[in-house]
Parts: sequence; structure tokens; C-alpha cells
Amino acid sequence: MAESVELPGRLAILPFRNKVLLPGAFIRIRCTSQSSVKLVEQELWQREEKGLIGILPVQDAAETTSMDSMLSQGVGSESGERSSNVQVSTSDAHKVDGKNPSEVIHWHNRGVAARALHLSRGVEKPSGRVTYIVVLEGLCRFNIEELNTRGPYCTAKISPLEMTKSEMEQVEQDPDFVTLSRQFKAIAMELISILEQKQKTGGRIKVLLETLPFHKLADIFVASFEISFEEQLCMLDSVDPKVRLSKATELVDRHLQSIRVAEKITQKVEGQLSKSQKEYLLRQQMRAIKEELGDNDDDEDDLASLERKMQNAGMPSNIWKHAQRELRRLKKMQPQQPGYNSSRVYLDLLADLPWQKASEEQELDLKAAKDHLDCDHYGLVKIKQRIIEYLAVRKLKPDARGPVLCFVGPPGVGKTSLASSIAAALGRKFIRISLGGVKDEADIRGHRRTYIGSMPGRLIDGLKKVGVCNPVMLLDEIDKTGSDVRGDPASALLEVLDPEQNKSFNDHYLNVPFDLSKVIFVATANRMQPIPPPLLDRMEVIELPGYTAEEKLRIAMQHLIPRVLDQHGLSSAFLQIPEDMVKLVIQRYTREAGVRNLERNLAALARAAAVRVAEREQAVSVSKDVHKITSPLLDNRLAEGAEMEMEVIPMGVNNHEISNAFRIASPLVVDEAMLEKILGPPRFDDQEAADRVATPGVSVGLVWTAFGGEVQFVEATSVVGNGELHLTGQLGDVIKESAQIALTWVRARVEDLKLAAAEETDLLQGKDIHIHFPAGAVPKDGPSAGVTLVTALVSLFSQKNVRADTAMTGEMTLRGLVLPVGGVKDKVLAAHRYGIKRVILPERNLKDLVEVPADVLSSLEILVAKRMEDVLEHAFDGGCPWRQHQHSKL
Ligand code: ADP
Repeated sequence: MAESVELPGRLAILPFRNKVLLPGAFIRIRCTSQSSVKLVEQELWQREEKGLIGILPVQDAAETTSMDSMLSQGVGSESGERSSNVQVSTSDAHKVDGKNPSEVIHWHNRGVAARALHLSRGVEKPSGRVTYIVVLEGLCRFNIEELNTRGPYCTAKISPLEMTKSEMEQVEQDPDFVTLSRQFKAIAMELISILEQKQKTGGRIKVLLETLPFHKLADIFVASFEISFEEQLCMLDSVDPKVRLSKATELVDRHLQSIRVAEKITQKVEGQLSKSQKEYLLRQQMRAIKEELGDNDDDEDDLASLERKMQNAGMPSNIWKHAQRELRRLKKMQPQQPGYNSSRVYLDLLADLPWQKASEEQELDLKAAKDHLDCDHYGLVKIKQRIIEYLAVRKLKPDARGPVLCFVGPPGVGKTSLASSIAAALGRKFIRISLGGVKDEADIRGHRRTYIGSMPGRLIDGLKKVGVCNPVMLLDEIDKTGSDVRGDPASALLEVLDPEQNKSFNDHYLNVPFDLSKVIFVATANRMQPIPPPLLDRMEVIELPGYTAEEKLRIAMQHLIPRVLDQHGLSSAFLQIPEDMVKLVIQRYTREAGVRNLERNLAALARAAAVRVAEREQAVSVSKDVHKITSPLLDNRLAEGAEMEMEVIPMGVNNHEISNAFRIASPLVVDEAMLEKILGPPRFDDQEAADRVATPGVSVGLVWTAFGGEVQFVEATSVVGNGELHLTGQLGDVIKESAQIALTWVRARVEDLKLAAAEETDLLQGKDIHIHFPAGAVPKDGPSAGVTLVTALVSLFSQKNVRADTAMTGEMTLRGLVLPVGGVKDKVLAAHRYGIKRVILPERNLKDLVEVPADVLSSLEILVAKRMEDVLEHAFDGGCPWRQHQHSKL
């Protein structure tokens, strides 16, 4: 580019229609019109030394907008041609391109002198018209002093506009100019670096940036942008270098921004495209592989069905949003990806949980509920009454937040079946959650999903299984939960049972609140003591003490035997268990508070009978056809059976009639021999106590365990030693202390009780005492063995046997007072079961006897003790040993 240009006073003018050539810019034009061809021929082609021509923008109002877009070089050439047409049109006489000359509204008064860098001439065939292609370089601005449009082409008198060198040097000193230059350079560099990344063409422009003065660079940069005609004119008019620089900075910046935005959009679109294309490709491949493997279950279908399931789950809106977020995440994952499965399982749980699904509550019919309870359970009058009261309250106030019912009693007394009867009476579903041995809070609340193998807690899991949000939920064995380092399940249960808190129960796995307020909770426990007091506070305890032998017999005859027979596909026509035999089973094979073992033994009888019946049936099956004719019922059954796969035989026309049809000779009747054959030799007999108490030093106590009341023997013996006390039988601290107290009390009364010869003041001289509580493997604790321990020791030292028919219970103080104990009812029942005839009780426990069934009481002799001496008086044959001693002395 020329450094400075000598401008002549007059220049041939080539008009540019709606386009500007800026100094420093290059343009390639094709000249076809008469005037432009003439201009090129005369000013450039025929001259030896190529001269300068002036390029002048002209504005055509009608074309302004369309011309704006014609800015590429190719188009530029055309615009050049058009420009020449305009020029012609302005020369008054001619009309070219059918354009009205009046449309040319403006000749700009500033132009740019240009030099031809390259010329080529062509002749159009067949017209023979001459055309030129010219490459022009813009050099410097000029001002039109006078325009002459007459002649073959335009000419004008001009004056230069660019500053002289010295003027320019002066401007370069201007601090404003310096700042502007710096700004322009910075932004230009930025643009160049972007272009460099994109087109790798920045190097050449960078060189320009280093070598050319900024006011010229401004023109060059702007010339390369796609900007409007007005802006190009404005740039042409910016003669002052400062104005030009600031205008150029603005335009370069705008260009930069537009490049950035465009780039961002492209990146986004490209990213999306490539990702979705990749996914599509992979899915196609996967489908192909699956097809090849014959594995048709499609993941997409799978997720779609999951989504459908989620939509139908009726989740609250906030939980639905949460679930959708998780689903979106899942959709983006590949099935092989870690976390896919856990996310899938989690969403399945969300979809399966009964957020709104509830069993329809029927109008509660108290009479029907009572009948239902009576029909399922023998006896338990008070308990059934309490349940009816509970149901009545619910009927009057369905959302009543009464206390949670808690059935407390030994195993097999009907706690679970009562709870399920409540559910049946309310027409609700029933679910049992076993809490036995739960020590980890996570069992109730679930593990957080960050844990490997995390799961929801038992409650949420139970609700998923039961599928409704308003079941009767049985929290079984609530007394067996314990706390350790893994948290306290009881505190989690507290939240569950608290009507204020359980509206938004928070399971760690689920991580969203679940409303438990519609669930009816019922709890069971074997004992009350281990239940933490705050939990107990929320529950209403209903005690089931256990059954007497008579009650067991009734339960067996009315409920257990029919149920057991039915469960084994039998009826009374196949097997009959007479009452006497049931009594024997109760006496000899079971010794429990409940009826679970009884039921088990009856089931064993039924199993054995089933084998025999099955064998017989095989034997008679050959003669079926013959009998078929004789039995209309059977005919009916077989005829229908031909059409139906499975058939419901109406009640009353069941196995009984069918067996008649087969004419089984006679039902199997259980007798004693059969009992022994099937159940083995008797496990218990009434002789046990007598046998075990046959030597001095053994007494019979009554204790209370998780299985109800029990008879507990206490054995004491003395061996040569140093006066130590040895205790065995898995004893707790309280019972050990009771033994110490008992020994001390006996030693203190050696003389009163006449337990040793007069000169022997210390019973323990040269002796060790060993006390053992069989069975050795069962842990025992509690203070109620106090009187039994003393009795055993007195028996040992006096060498007198304790009465085998007498059992006792009571805590003893060091001074020999007998204090009341708990579980009297269960203990008395246990004594009765064992065949014990006499029971020694603390005096203050007498009031508890009202709870003991009358028939049990009538078969027992209850002896009351206020002091230890009273116990001893009752426990030995003929009264307390010292009295006997006295008698024998007399
Ligand atoms: P628990 O939950 O107290 O351990 P279950 O409810 O499981 O005891 O009862 C054990 C079995 O004894 C069940 O088959 C139950 O129906 C039966 N059962 C218990 N008590 C009675 C009763 N009073 N009448 C009829 N059946 C009973």
C-alpha cells in the first residue's frame, strides 16, 4: 500500500451504487456498461502508466435495502457495473436498466481514489461488446469540489482529505489518540486470535497490525466486515483519525460479539447433535445385539412403563417432581453404568408405594365385628370387649388418634390373630412387621442411598408389599428391639407411633416424606418391661396371660382341630381326635402358656393321618367308576369338572361327602398308642416335681419369663470348702444378690431354726455352698426367687425334703419380710400346668388372684406369707423344720 498519494486536481469518477470502497480495501469489478467501459479504456487500459480513478458512492433509495446485502466480491463487481449505469442515468438523456433517473437521489460528496492493480479485457460473443474486469485498491479519501456528469463518463474536480505526514505526526502525539489506538489494538488482537483459531489466517493480519498506522488499519478492518451502507458512509466520512478509530473500535467490537454468539450457538447445536447421534447409534447397536440374542425386552419400553407406573402412583406434587428429576437422570444413563440399577430400583419403589391407594373402608358393623372375633377366638372375653370399644371409637370418629393397642403376653396366646381379626373387622389389609432382634435404626428408617446395598426400612417395605396406605400394621415383638452403636430403633418407632410426626415419616432410603397417619398400628410384646417407657406411653397395653388346660382344650376342639384338618386336606371323616386325647396332648406333650405347641402337635397327628388316607385313597381309586354311579353328588362334581379346570366345592358338600362316596371304611380315631407312636414318649408328667424334690436342698419356685410363667427348681448343696458361695445357671446380678441375702438370713438364724448343733455357730465352717438353677442354659434374673432360695438352703441344712406339691414366689428382705412380686397370674397358671397343688404367695399379691380363672383357683391351695417363717411353715411337711426339731426334742 502506498504510503502517501499525490492526488491530481481532476479525477475520472466511477460511481458505486450503495457501496463504499474504503482506503486500504481491494475490490474486483466487472465493467459492462458503455460509460464504465469507456472510463476504464481511456483512464486505465490505454495509458502506459496506470492512473488513478475516483470511486464515489451513490445512493438509490429504492435499492438501499437490497443492495446492502450485495457485499461479496462477486457482487461487488456487479455493483460496480450498476454504478456505472447510475452514472449514465444521471447524464440526463439515457435510461439504463429501465431505471427511472429520478430514483437516484444522492451522489455522495466524498469518495476514495483508487488504483488499478490488475486489468483484463474481454469481448462478448456474438454481440462483440467489450467488457473489463478490474481489480482496484482504495488509496485515500477526497472531496468533490465539482462534479461533471457530461461526457462519456463522469469527471470531478477534487481536493485531498487525508492529513499530511506532519499533521498526522501531531495527531499521534495526542493522548486521546494514543488511548484510542491502544483500545483499537487490543480489540483487533482479540478478533485476530479468534479468527486465527477458526481459519488459521490471522498471521497475515497480525503483520499488518504491527506495520501499518492505526488510522489506516481502522479502514482495512471495517472494510472486511459486513456492515450497512450507512455505516460504510459514516466510516468514509470519518476524516478525523480519532473519530475513525473510535468508530472502528465500536464496529470491531460488535463484530467480535457476533462471532462469539454465533460460535456459542454452533457449539451447542453441534454438541447436541453429536451427542444425540451417538446415543442413537449406540441404541441402534444395542437393539441389533438384542435382536440377535433374541432378547426382546426393550430398555426404552421398560423406562416408559416405569414412567407410566409413576404417573399412576398418585404421588404428591413435590414428590412427583423429585421422581421426575430422578427419572430424567436415569434416562441419560446407560444400563451398564454404575448407579443405573440402584436408581431404577429406587424409582420402582417410588412408583410402587401406595401414596394414595387405600382399601375402601366399609361402614363398620360392630355386631359383625364381634361375631368375627368370637368366631376366630375362644374366650378372651375382656380382651374382645376392649377391641370392640376401640372399634366403636373408630366408627364414631374415624380419624381418632387414640393410643396404639399393644397386646402383651407369652407366645401363642393369639396376639397376632387378634390383630388380623381387627383388620378383617375394619375391612382393611393386614401386614405384620417383625421387630424381633432389630438393633439397627436403619431397619426402621432404611439406609441412605449412598450406601452400597441400601434398602428402605421395614415399614416402607411393608407398605410397598401391602399396596395400600391404610392397612392395619402389626409391629410384632416390639419389646425385642434393642439399641446399640447403630442407633436406637425405639426412637424411630416413637416417630412412627406419634400421630403428630408420622404424617411425614422420613425413611432415609426414600428421602421424601411418607404419610403414615392413615395406618392403624397394633403392637405385640411378650413382656412389658423391656419396652422403653416413652414408647409404652403411646400404647394401651392389653395383657393376654395364657390359657388354662381347660381353655386350651376348648380352643383345640373348636378352633385348632378344624383348622389343622382343613390345612391338611382332611375332615373329621378321615381323622378324629377325641377330647381325652387332646387332654393328654396338653398334659404330656405341651407345657406352655399359649397354644402354639399344641397346634404343632395336632398338626403332627394330622400329617400322619394324611399319609394313611392318601395310601388308602390309592387303594380304592381303582373302584371309582363303580361308586360314581351310586353317588349323585360325585356325579355332579365330575360332570362339572369335565368343563372346569378347577372347581370350588360348596361348603357342606366337601371332603366329607366325597369320602363317603369312596366309602372309606371308618375314620381314623387317635388313641393313646397312636399318640405315642406319632408324638413320641410323653415329654412331661405330674411326677416331675416329686422326683426332683426327692432329696433335701431342692425347692420349687415360680418365675416369669418371656414364655409366660414357669416352674423353676432351685438346687443347693454343700461341699468341703472355705465358706464360699458358688452360683450357677446363667444368673443375673439381682438373683445373685438374692442368693447372698438368703444365705445371710439363714446363717443369722442358725439357732432359731435349729439348723446345727449348739456348738456349731457357723454353718459355713469348712464348707462351700453351691446353688444351681436348672436349666443351666437359660439366662435368669429378678428378685422373686428370694423365698425359694431360703427354702432350698433351710432344706439343705435341716436335711428335710421340701413338699413336692408346693411352689412359691416372693422377694425377701434381709430381715425376712416377704415382698410382693409381678406376674402372679402367669405364675399361678404355670403352677397349675405343672400339676402343683399348693402355691405360696406374698400376702400383698393376694389382690392379683382376681385375674386368675376361677377353675384354676379352685384346684389350687393358695398359701399366704408375710414373713419368711410363714413360707418355711408352708413349704415343709409338718411345718417348719425347727418346730419338728422342737417336737422331736420334747
Ligand atoms: P401370638 O401372636 O400371641 O404368638 P398367634 O396369634 O400366632 O399367637 O396364635 C397362635 C395360634 O393359636 C394361632 O393359630 C391362633 O389362631 C391360635 N389361637 C390363639 N389363641 C386362640 C383363641 N383364644 N382362640 C382360637 N385360636 C387361638
